[in-house]
Amino acid sequence: MNSHVSRKIIHVDMDCFYAAIEIRDDPALAEKPVAVGGSPNERGVLCTCNYIARKFGVRSAMATAYALKLCPDLIVLPVTMHKYKAAAKIIHDIFREYTDLVEPLSLDEAYLDVSSSTLHQGSATLIAKEIREKIWKTLHLTASAGVAPNKFLAKIASGWKKPNGLFVIRPTDIENFIKDLPVKKIHGVGKVTAEKLHARGLYTCLDLQKLSRIDLTDHFGKFGSQLYDQCRGIDHRKVEPNRMRKSLSVERTFNKDIAITQETIHIMKDLYDQLMKRLNGIAHNRQIKNQYIKVKFSNFKQATLERATHEVNFSQYMQLLFEISKRENIQIRLIGIGVHFICDEKKKNFIQHKLF
Ligand SMILES: [Mg+2]
Repeated sequence: MNSHVSRKIIHVDMDCFYAAIEIRDDPALAEKPVAVGGSPNERGVLCTCNYIARKFGVRSAMATAYALKLCPDLIVLPVTMHKYKAAAKIIHDIFREYTDLVEPLSLDEAYLDVSSSTLHQGSATLIAKEIREKIWKTLHLTASAGVAPNKFLAKIASGWKKPNGLFVIRPTDIENFIKDLPVKKIHGVGKVTAEKLHARGLYTCLDLQKLSRIDLTDHFGKFGSQLYDQCRGIDHRKVEPNRMRKSLSVERTFNKDIAITQETIHIMKDLYDQLMKRLNGIAHNRQIKNQYIKVKFSNFKQATLERATHEVNFSQYMQLLFEISKRENIQIRLIGIGVHFICDEKKKNFIQHKLF
């Protein structure tokens, strides 16, 4: 397909999904600060919270104990994953009424490519509107949606009018929309990259547009080229349905290189919680082939180590970390943990190969 043909991407993001489901099922909670997550002991973290709790500064991924300090009346409910999965399945089925090109990012968030849809005369805006209405009618939950010519902008758009909002970025709006957008909103720009850019006086996409592609690739490698495109509102990533995914991982780059000590277990625990959340979301129906660790050492050497398993296990990740860190025996700048999935496509080819 010609990459210059404008695509129509919708990003749908449920509003505080887990908390919204719990509140829907117990209306007495409606006017109260509510969160879903782990208990304050055992270093529990929140998965999500409602907007009343957010007024107190409570956020998802925050330690439950800390959230309770900010908001002592916060009602913290345990995770009832089966309910969220059931709702997610219904939402996914609604998406599939409009397109097969659905890429879930988690249980409550997905990209849809509706470029080829003929419904509503092909208006992505009307499709997004109808999807939000259907979700409300079917589940009594609100969704926010963003419509744009690519994934990067669609995701920003869905957050623009949250909660219960719809925001559209047309191709002709891009130039104007992007210029004031903070660089930290760019897909793939984490805390560390944002700080590097700020240190060079680059705060907005317009600031970043002043740098050449070569300048950016010199500083950020391959990612520099993505930065060059994204600060102009360009993003060529395709919407990829779930079955294509071969692996899933989370990683963290440190502000300062770290040594592997007892303290590292806390970092690993956080990464593990993130990974499990994503695994339970987008990949709950996938079979795991192995779990792996990736590290970057302070000398920029990168290493990975994997272990075959069908079920991920935290202590195995710790084991892998200790083994891999011995390879260089110096400080570490990045740790990533992940899994590879068994790919059905491959299996099918393999069987065919044997038959013929
Ligand atoms: Mg959400």
